[in-house]
Amino acid sequence: MMRIVLLGAPGSGKGTQAQRLQAKFNVPQISSGDLLRDAVARKTALGLKAKAAMEAGQLVSDDIVLGLIRERLSQADAQNGFILDGFPRNSDQAATLSKLLVDIGQPLEAVLLMDVRTRTLIERMAGRRICKHCGKVFSVSALPSDMSCKSNSNGHELYQRVDDKEDVIAKRLDVYKSQTKPLIDHYSKLGLLKVIKGEGTLELITARMEAALAKSGSKTEKVKRKAARKTASNNSSVKPAAKKASRKKVAAKRKAAPVKKPAVVKKKKVVARKPARKTVKKSAARKPARKK
Ligand code: AMP
Repeated sequence: MMRIVLLGAPGSGKGTQAQRLQAKFNVPQISSGDLLRDAVARKTALGLKAKAAMEAGQLVSDDIVLGLIRERLSQADAQNGFILDGFPRNSDQAATLSKLLVDIGQPLEAVLLMDVRTRTLIERMAGRRICKHCGKVFSVSALPSDMSCKSNSNGHELYQRVDDKEDVIAKRLDVYKSQTKPLIDHYSKLGLLKVIKGEGTLELITARMEAALAKSGSKTEKVKRKAARKTASNNSSVKPAAKKASRKKVAAKRKAAPVKKPAVVKKKKVVARKPARKTVKKSAARKPARKK
């Protein structure tokens, strides 16, 4: 079971790493950005409302995002865990999420913060190109020679996200700083935060994330066992105060009369009794019936 949030600035690699963890652990990546882009592409009522804010690098209103996330978390594949990517993004969303997860009995296990330098964030976003067909993400520094995705033999065209243009990138980083960054402190106080160095090869970053999750998993197990012991003793019909009193009483009795070794009781030989014979009257048995 994996119930985690990936926190980090735009361009910190949340989406890429969420996809890798999703494939490894078989829990769905739930990306608020992807859900919104899908709604925009399908021109749903929510999508039409969200479009302008997204293109300007602003946050979409909480009620729209929360509606999409609530609906997505209720789907069957999210019942065994989830990787939240890009959600929550402000303190109101974090509060609503924790209430929602408590209500459905699926509290968060960890929040992984992808820590990346601002210079690298800008380079990554400005150089990001995406396949129109399969959504695979490329970097301009490592593009295929014909600038297409090879997910089929003809090659698919790549595009740049409207909000990956430089002026919008700056806005998105500002929004992250003012609205999302305070969540670092929030989750740190809750003891859920793990900081992951988000630079290096994809494999190295995934390995760091897995190591952090393994640590938090064993911690969660310890906390669970402690909670189970506490619940068991709370559920016991004997109250703790009564237990203490009874222990004191036994100790006092032992002091007053030291416990003697129990006397050896000799076992009596048990002789098996023969079953009582049925006695038949001799006279009745022997005397033949008189002939008349
Ligand atoms: P992302 O793909 O996570 O970078 O998100 C792209 C855009 O979608 C953001 O710049 C926001 O406009 C919008 N967005 C994504 N997630 C949220 C969220 N949790 N709350 C509000 N807006 C969001």
